[in-house]
Amino acid sequence: EDSLQMCSQFEADLARFTKAKHTIAVSSGTAGLICALQACNIGPGDEVLVPAYTWVATAGAVLLVGAVPVLVEIDESLTIDPIDLEAKLTPRSRAVIPVHMINRPCNMEAILRIAHNNGLRVIEDASQAIGVRYKNAFCGTIGDIGVFSFNQYKNMTCGEGGAILTGDPELHDRALSAHDMGIGYRTHREGGNLPLFLGNNYRISEIQGAILRVQLAKLDGRLNRMKRNSAMLEEVLKTAGVPLARRNDPDETLSVACTFSTEDDAIDFAEKRGVRRLFDNSKHIYTRWSPILAQRMHHVAFDPWSWAGIPFDQQRNDCPRTLDLLRRSCAVNLVASLPYPAAKMLARRLVA
Ligand SMILES: *Cc1c(COP(=O)(O)O)cnc(C)c1O
Repeated sequence: EDSLQMCSQFEADLARFTKAKHTIAVSSGTAGLICALQACNIGPGDEVLVPAYTWVATAGAVLLVGAVPVLVEIDESLTIDPIDLEAKLTPRSRAVIPVHMINRPCNMEAILRIAHNNGLRVIEDASQAIGVRYKNAFCGTIGDIGVFSFNQYKNMTCGEGGAILTGDPELHDRALSAHDMGIGYRTHREGGNLPLFLGNNYRISEIQGAILRVQLAKLDGRLNRMKRNSAMLEEVLKTAGVPLARRNDPDETLSVACTFSTEDDAIDFAEKRGVRRLFDNSKHIYTRWSPILAQRMHHVAFDPWSWAGIPFDQQRNDCPRTLDLLRRSCAVNLVASLPYPAAKMLARRLVA
């Protein structure tokens, strides 16, 4: 019977690939974040630290479980800044969500140390870094619990989908409840774990499970191509004197980004070389998360800010250093399907 269960087989494949003990396929990365937060018992009154540069879903998921996101600056690696993370801690801080943006691993060593010293859960948002490693461990398997997204823009896709990864059996059990109504419609909930709490329906279909199995089998090839392309492009840019952005794991960062000393230099480079400036990349910057900035939830009484007992403080959530870095930074769009000869042509254009 189990041979017909495509989702379960994909979960087993993903566990084998990432070396995560437990994996759950879900309907989106956002659903995965909500389940991970619920698994970690995050709710009203809690604060969760998230970077100011990420997809809106990272902060949005926090609000949807009734907690409030506290915005943290990014550093020169373009990922969450451990120093600002520490500065933003309060007695209400319960978790941090490091986001491995554009295939660039966060400084997990520093983040884990701060989390350990302050009793924070670490929920990794590895939506944009599936298969990327930080010091030999896969992004998403380093903190307490991690999340992937399989939407159409990610390293592997089934249209829309996601996954939750954890080594903690209790978090796994709670995430199972969260993604399957707390009842266990899926057969792997039978014969063991009791439903712990009411969840939502964040299941994916067997069709998606079948597609994801094929996608996962192709992932290594795609990542190897990205690795070869990004190493070559970085070498070409470095030789041409273009200032590359810092990498927390130089061997594993599968994207090409550069940070100039002035905004004008970045605008100039983007225009002349046909690359995108990160500041112009819509909706991944906190200043463009309009419902969150307006504190607009689906119902006026559903007000996570009032539950946290703190008025929303625009100034406290301001991240000027993040805006400055993004204004001065460009990234080369390194799609996984880009063949090496095409990447070579791209490299010539970048330094012509
Ligand atoms: C894509 C993405 C998500 C959400 O994934 P969906 O599958 O679109 O819900 C969350 N965080 C980051 C950083 C993402 O890039």
